[in-house]
Amino acid sequence: MTVTQSTSTQLTRETLAAMDATDALASFRDKFYLPEGVLYFDGNSLGALPKTVEDRLQKAITQEWGDGLVRSWNTAGWYEMPRRVGNKIAKLIGAKDDEVVVADSTSVNLFKILSAAVKLNPGKHIILSEPDNFPTDLYMVQGLIQLLGSDHKLVLKPAAEIMDAIDEDTAIVMLTHVNYRTGAMHDMKAITAKAHQKGALMIWDLCHSVGAMPVDLTGANADFAIGCGYKYLNGGPGAPAFVYVAARHQAHFSQPLAGWLGHARPFAFDWKYQPAEGIGRYLAGTQPVLSMIALECGVDLMLEADLSLMRQKSLAMGDLFIQLVEEQCSGYGLELVTPRNGAIRGSQVSFSHPQGFPIMQALIAHGVIGDYREPNILRFGFTPLYVSYVDIWDTIQILATILREHTWEKPEFQRRGNVT
Ligand SMILES: *Cc1c(COP(=O)(O)O)cnc(C)c1O
Repeated sequence: MTVTQSTSTQLTRETLAAMDATDALASFRDKFYLPEGVLYFDGNSLGALPKTVEDRLQKAITQEWGDGLVRSWNTAGWYEMPRRVGNKIAKLIGAKDDEVVVADSTSVNLFKILSAAVKLNPGKHIILSEPDNFPTDLYMVQGLIQLLGSDHKLVLKPAAEIMDAIDEDTAIVMLTHVNYRTGAMHDMKAITAKAHQKGALMIWDLCHSVGAMPVDLTGANADFAIGCGYKYLNGGPGAPAFVYVAARHQAHFSQPLAGWLGHARPFAFDWKYQPAEGIGRYLAGTQPVLSMIALECGVDLMLEADLSLMRQKSLAMGDLFIQLVEEQCSGYGLELVTPRNGAIRGSQVSFSHPQGFPIMQALIAHGVIGDYREPNILRFGFTPLYVSYVDIWDTIQILATILREHTWEKPEFQRRGNVT
C-alpha cells in the first residue's frame, strides 16, 4: 500500500478515550447487549441485540401469542405492523408516510419491485447495474428475465461508467447505494436525475445505508428502494426487509406476488384479486410477527439517535481506522480498497490482503469480529451507536500483532465454515 507516514501528532489510547467521553452518542452503547471481550465490527452484516428486544419479545410470546391467541391480530396491533414499522423506517430514509412497508426479504422485495418497474417502462429493454453489485440483486434480475421470456437484458458496467452508460434504451437503473464489499457510495441524487432524464426508472438498494447515515429518497426524487432489517437497523437475524415506492407510482403498478394481504379487502375472501390502494399492494402473505416485533425495537432505538451525528461519528471512525492501520500496520500488505474521501464512503472500511481469510479468522479468535468477503477483502463496519473510538484503538493493536507474528498461519485459521 501507499504508506504516507502520518504527520499528525501520534494518537494514543488516552486521546481516544477522551473522544469517547465527549461523544454525544456514547450513551447508546449501553442500550445494546454486547458480549464481554468482543469488539464488534460486523453490524453491517448482523446488527447487535438491542436490550429492549428480550422483554418485548417475552411479552409478545406470553401475553400476545399465549393469552391473546388469534385475537392479537387486532388487539396487539399485529395486523398493522408492516405499515406501522414501514412508516417508522420512512423517517430514516427521507420517505413520506405510506411510502414504505415492511415485508419479506430484500431479495423477494427486489423481485417485486423489478417486476413492477419493468411493466411501468415498456419499450425499453436494458436493466443497468454493476458487476460488483451484491449478487442476490443481480440474480433477481436474471431470474425475472428468465421468467418473463422477454428481450430484457442485464447490462453491467463498473461503478465509474454507470452515469455514461444510462441512455434512451435503459429501462431500469438498479444500484446499491453503498457497495457491500468496498464501502464506496454512489451519488444517489445525480444518478437518479440522469436516469430520469433518459426516461429510466431508478431502484436503490439501501442495505448498507439505512440506519448508518441520513438518506433522502424524497430529495433524490427516487422511484423505488429496498433495504435490510438485520444490518444497521439491528432487527435480528433474518429480520424482515422493507420496500419503498414513491407515492406517484403507487397507483400505477402491479407486482406478481399478488397475495391475499396485498388485496384491497383481504377479509372479504373474494376470489378475484384486486390490489390494495397504495403501498399495501406490496404485501403478499402473512408476515413473521415475532421477527417484526424485534425489528421494531431496533428501529425505535434508531429513531432516538441523530442521524447526522451518526454519520459524522461513522466517518470519523473510518478515518481513524485508516490512519491507525497506516501508522501501525504498514509493510504487511494491507491495501485500502475503500475511498479515502468520506463524501463517497459508507460506514465501513475494507482492506485487501492475499491472506485476508485467515487474518480475519485470527482476528475473530482474538475477539475482533469483522468479516471476510471474496476474493481477499477484510471488512470492518462501524456502527456509531455501539462502537467506540477506543474499540478501534484496541482492534488495531490486535491486528498489528497478528500481522507481525504471522498468527494467521496457524492451520485452524485456514478452515472455512458455511458462512464467511
Ligand atoms: C445484505 C444484502 C442483501 C440481503 O438480501 P436478503 O434477501 O436479506 O438475503 C441484499 N442486497 C444487498 C446489497 C445486501 O447488502
